[in-house]
Amino acid sequence: MSDAHRSRLEALRARLDPGLEALLVSNPSNIFYLSGFTGSAGLLLVGRAGATLYSDFRYRLQAAEQAPAVEFVEVERGLVKGAGEKLAQSGLARVGYDQAHLTCQSRETLSEAASGVAWLEAAGVVEELRLVKSGEEIERMRRAAELADRALAHLVTVMKPGAKERDLALEAEFLMRRAGAEAAAFKVIVGSGPHGALPHAEVTERELQAGDLVVLDLGARLEGYCSDVTRTFAVGEACRQARDIYALVYRAQRAALAAVRAGAVGREVDAVARTLIAEAGYGEAFGHGLGHGVGIEVHEGPRLAREVDAVLAAGNVVTVEPGIYLEGFGGVRLEDMVAVTEDGSVTLTSYPMAADVPIL
Ligand code: ZN
Ligand code: ZN
Repeated sequence: MSDAHRSRLEALRARLDPGLEALLVSNPSNIFYLSGFTGSAGLLLVGRAGATLYSDFRYRLQAAEQAPAVEFVEVERGLVKGAGEKLAQSGLARVGYDQAHLTCQSRETLSEAASGVAWLEAAGVVEELRLVKSGEEIERMRRAAELADRALAHLVTVMKPGAKERDLALEAEFLMRRAGAEAAAFKVIVGSGPHGALPHAEVTERELQAGDLVVLDLGARLEGYCSDVTRTFAVGEACRQARDIYALVYRAQRAALAAVRAGAVGREVDAVARTLIAEAGYGEAFGHGLGHGVGIEVHEGPRLAREVDAVLAAGNVVTVEPGIYLEGFGGVRLEDMVAVTEDGSVTLTSYPMAADVPIL
């Protein structure tokens, strides 16, 4: 991977404001992207020629293994102060930093420790690079998706009346981790019955009941990359309304998925699903954006939503996840994660999506 890291560092330099001599990267996801380092304490200074990772002695060996493309510099006292002092000796005059990922306090500490440096705001440069994934990144995400798909395949065999949301969520996480995931990419969502009406339901002790719709939303993190998938099932039986809203969300999901391609505008793809749902009278019940980017973080750019003018590019990885949420009744959400290509997309999630609500 160190070649990939070297070329990412190069790509960052090419994008960096010409007025900056270096960029101090503080977001751990960005540090991982540029260097491979996963330690929880680190600051990465990317200069015009080299790159330096400031961290403490606990991470010396880890950094040598994970991040051979950058120079490790050990700092003793508090990381920010230590890095600032080392940086002050470097002779740099103009350094960018990401105001969104550096506390005000840290920013002041840096200014004091490196008072000869002009600190300039430069947020989002690395995030922009991260929008377009390489083949290797997409492959990691496909494998991360496979772990969640396999957990889903097992869960459907134990989703019976009396099963608890909490137990199902725990089981999903256990299965993904035993199969190799570093962690669940986010807290597993099991929204059963009325709980399904909350798009981000916290799992509870609630037991599944016959007639419930159950929204299962899960993802795995593998080799630093996340996956994200949602399916909705009915337990035992499904009433007419449950079947209708499921079929509608399914149609909206398929139609929006077909609209994903390089060059498509975020809000236009969102509108494909939203229009279908609104025309059927459920516009108010689809209260979130159609999808989001996924990568090192489970929610990153680009987004697919009403207010998004950004255009999709080949190599973006996004979710397509329309939903309908009816208070007191329940919800349906169907979500795939796809890699955008020039003429369409490749779906990375592979758990089958039934056209009619699957009854377990
Ligand atoms: Zn999800
Ligand atoms: Zn999602």
